[in-house]
Amino acid sequence: MSDFPYADRFLVHRTMPEEGTACADVLATMSYMSETENAAWESGQCSGTMYCGDHGHYDFLNEAFSYFSYVNSLQRDMCPSSTKFEAEVIAMTLDMLNASALSDSSAVGLVTSGGSGSIAHAILAYREYNTDKVGRPNVIKPETAHPAFDKACHLFGVELRVAPIDPITTQVDTDWVKKNIDKNTVALIGSACNYGYGTIDPITELGQIALEHEIGLHVDGCLGGFILPFGRELGYDIAPFDFAVPGVTTISADTHKYGYALKGTSVLCFADQALRNSQYFYQPDWSGGKYCSPGMDGSRSAGLLAATWAAMVQLGRSGYRGYAEQIFATSRSMQEVILSHDSLRILGNPSFLFSFTSDEFDVYHVNDFLRTKGWRLNGQQYPNALHMAVTRPQTQPGVVERWRTDIADAVEYAQNHAGEKPKSGAVYGGVEGGPNYEADAFIKMFMAAMMDQQSSIPS
Ligand SMILES: *Cc1c(COP(=O)(O)O)cnc(C)c1O
Repeated sequence: MSDFPYADRFLVHRTMPEEGTACADVLATMSYMSETENAAWESGQCSGTMYCGDHGHYDFLNEAFSYFSYVNSLQRDMCPSSTKFEAEVIAMTLDMLNASALSDSSAVGLVTSGGSGSIAHAILAYREYNTDKVGRPNVIKPETAHPAFDKACHLFGVELRVAPIDPITTQVDTDWVKKNIDKNTVALIGSACNYGYGTIDPITELGQIALEHEIGLHVDGCLGGFILPFGRELGYDIAPFDFAVPGVTTISADTHKYGYALKGTSVLCFADQALRNSQYFYQPDWSGGKYCSPGMDGSRSAGLLAATWAAMVQLGRSGYRGYAEQIFATSRSMQEVILSHDSLRILGNPSFLFSFTSDEFDVYHVNDFLRTKGWRLNGQQYPNALHMAVTRPQTQPGVVERWRTDIADAVEYAQNHAGEKPKSGAVYGGVEGGPNYEADAFIKMFMAAMMDQQSSIPS
């Protein structure tokens, strides 16, 4: 049990304490853990996950959250503010994603609990919208599209067809997509951008294919939705991916990533209200009263809607553009460092996040070394690669310089250890050891370590 988090320092609770604990003590415990853990990313050496990293901004969001944290946003008669926050978050996101370019715009949205929630609701909407047209529905995703699509298809009984990507561009093979559409295909999927490589699928071409077959096209902008529009405004070479592209029918964009809001929100945008409405669930004849909720969640904290609204209104377009400018510039400098090494290679033509590999040695050796210097990158597989999602913490002075020095030393380390087995593996979330176990057993162990270690009754 000694490796249970903080067991060396704080009491481990396996039963609820009979008497309560003083607020100050509870808060002191949490403040210690929070400060300890913040050190892992405050240096700017952690890929992704902390999108804003500005404690002043977090304090502001926390205050916004606090006014409504205890309010259930389902009870709209008691909290009309939730209707304002939610409607405006959706409207501002639709506008950012060019919904005004739609010819007969009945564009609408849904605020969900995160990227996976938005993707799940999109898959559900495509299934429900087409129930009387097709048998078992299928959707086609590029291999690089997020596993949230696999999860959504698993949950909703939709068949998932996985299209290969071009190994050089890392973009989806559109010929494969065309060949694998059949009468039960309800939607295609493209990423702008994908999580692994930061590359954008050919959305315009996918839109044409979708239009020809009269099916949907979901653009996964969970990661890029709140930064790519500003990158385009700044003049970066980013192909169109939003509602201005004919054929795009839904876009997911995460407010809890580059929207710089609190964790727990994302926006799913629909070009057509009927598509969104198809996934509503309601139960008009329950003895407890007529029941409806917009999405999978029942009660939701109105605080999350409030904080998301606060982030968007406080930063404004110029705030988002300014952050995007720093992030794109930092990413470019970090990519230049990679390109200055002959033994390293960047995959595809990425944007603000990039991934690199090596044809000379296992790039996980680079990761092994970088870890000793406090960097936390994500490992990828097929081929082994490392990915760096540049966020605001990396834009601090000195981070690019540290990157330059540490990458140079890491390459030397990798060359010297090329014959050995690297320590790092490829698990999303950064836990080592993936390839060392049978995957199934490994995942169960990983989950058990996360969930069950302390939940069993003490013997
Ligand atoms: C993060 C991410 C998701 C999933 O979002 P969650 O908020 O983690 O559920 C989906 N797609 C892409 C491209 C992502 O980066």
